[in-house]
Amino acid sequence: MMEPIKNIAPLKNFTVYNPATDQPVGTYDIMDRERVGHAVGKARQTFSAWSETPMAQRRRILGKAVTILANNVEKYAGIVASETGKTTLDAMMADIFSALDIFKYYKKNAGKFLKPVRVPGSTFLPGRKAYYTFEPKGVIGIISPWNYPFALLAGPAVSALMAGNTVVIKPASQTTGSGLMFKEIMDQAGMPDGAIQMVTGNGSITGQALIENEDLDMIFFTGSTAVGREISKIAGKRMIPAVMELGGKDAAIVTKNANLDRAAHAIVWGGITNSGQTCIGTELVLVDRRIYDAFEKKIVDLVKNLKSGSEPGDVGSMTMKSQFEIVRSQVEDAKAKGAGILAGGEPLPSPHGLYFPPTVLTNVTEDMKVRTEETFGPLLPLIPYDTIDDAVKIANSTEYGLSGSVFTRDMAEARDIAKQLKTGSVNINDILVTYAIPDLPFGGIKRSGIGTYHGESGIRAFTNVKSITEYKWNINKEPHWYPMTKQGDRLIVNILVVFFSGNLLSRIKALFKLGKPVREMFKAKPS
Ligand code: NAP
Ligand code: MG
Repeated sequence: MMEPIKNIAPLKNFTVYNPATDQPVGTYDIMDRERVGHAVGKARQTFSAWSETPMAQRRRILGKAVTILANNVEKYAGIVASETGKTTLDAMMADIFSALDIFKYYKKNAGKFLKPVRVPGSTFLPGRKAYYTFEPKGVIGIISPWNYPFALLAGPAVSALMAGNTVVIKPASQTTGSGLMFKEIMDQAGMPDGAIQMVTGNGSITGQALIENEDLDMIFFTGSTAVGREISKIAGKRMIPAVMELGGKDAAIVTKNANLDRAAHAIVWGGITNSGQTCIGTELVLVDRRIYDAFEKKIVDLVKNLKSGSEPGDVGSMTMKSQFEIVRSQVEDAKAKGAGILAGGEPLPSPHGLYFPPTVLTNVTEDMKVRTEETFGPLLPLIPYDTIDDAVKIANSTEYGLSGSVFTRDMAEARDIAKQLKTGSVNINDILVTYAIPDLPFGGIKRSGIGTYHGESGIRAFTNVKSITEYKWNINKEPHWYPMTKQGDRLIVNILVVFFSGNLLSRIKALFKLGKPVREMFKAKPS
């Protein structure tokens, strides 16, 4: 992905440039297969000690990390902003604040979520205690993207670590410094040496070396569907789990019963925040034709008032030149096929920075890329619909299934639409918030991903579940064990009738017949 290293295979390092200013912000090693192998080896060596570290100690470390992060918000948000081009406020809110929230959540709940779970057992297996436990998987490989380079790395990493795993993390090369922040903070907080390994470099060398390493027990990937598919193949061959958090084409549906002001404000923020480089950002705006004109005006008024520019500004620079070009080409494609541009559309002449102006499109048709492909940029295509069925059909028509929004005051209508959307989450009269509620599992369906994180199931995903039974009565033999006996046969016949027959009289008769074989069974004393 990184331009400076694109065609130069033997390079040993690469430089990250601030996309808003073109100034260099850091130079990092490109780690090859051998160095990645070394990192995985160290994580493996540290695993047994870390997995046996008591939860109280893990919690203490995480608590200290929370304080370090909270006390240095501006410093850390500044690093994120310098690599992504986003505004410092965007970095504080979406990267630092949301990571802090997840840290605190798992500090509070990890112990509870990972306690052994006692279950009732089975009527047919009297005397057994049954429960299941959660054991850390081992060494987890985490590959993260550049759009929220701290939060989307720290969230899964903390989940994995609190479950007792060690981690090897490859940040997106463009945002290496934001990734290294995580290790710096955790080390300061007292993380044992070796438990967190960072591998720096681009995807095709360092990332590939990581996912091909034979000693990983699980992969957690956040990024594009195309790369996710390749990683899934490798994980499949090795029979290790791979959680996939991939792309999206989220729709917001605005019905005639919506509070149009709230819907417009929400959609403009949800589609444009972080310059639209949000996996769950709004990419299709579906509006009931009866309120379309009024709604279009509200959206256009809001978007025209947004100020581009990092400090101060509403909308920062985009992060990747390649992504900027995708956005530009989608707008050109739409214009050539007859779309109207109601705001924005042309990149601003600027000596530095990837400032694509927030853009509102109309007359968007099915043959346009902006309608079907992920944009990952500040575009809001407005599409009128006639019936709710039509709206749902358009929302579900893409290959993705990440998230979506519904705006209406009619809650029955809202829930009905939410139920029909084929996505991993839905916000009613809201935008992006399912991600911000740590108890809610987060993930996509269809080509948007496999598996979820966050919540109780999210930390358990980083463990192996082990089912255990305990039996203390210790009679010599179960009735169905060898050698077979008459009493055993009778016992089983009558048990089946007692528990499964629909006829009450047969069941009562069978119950009386149970007495003798049960007594005989227990006569056999434990040895
Ligand atoms: P990407 O190109 O797939 O890159 C993601 C990560 O994978 C980066 O660290 C990248 O490294 C690495 N990588 C690339 N090729 C690799 C390979 N062959 N083997 C191993 N690792 C490899 O995605 P992106 O462009 O950075 O991110 C944007 C995409 O991520 C969008 O589609 C967006 O929707 C999705 N996303 C999804 C979520 C979610 O939670 N569902 C969240 C955020 C983003 P380099 O960059 O260093 O090459
Ligand atoms: Mg998007």
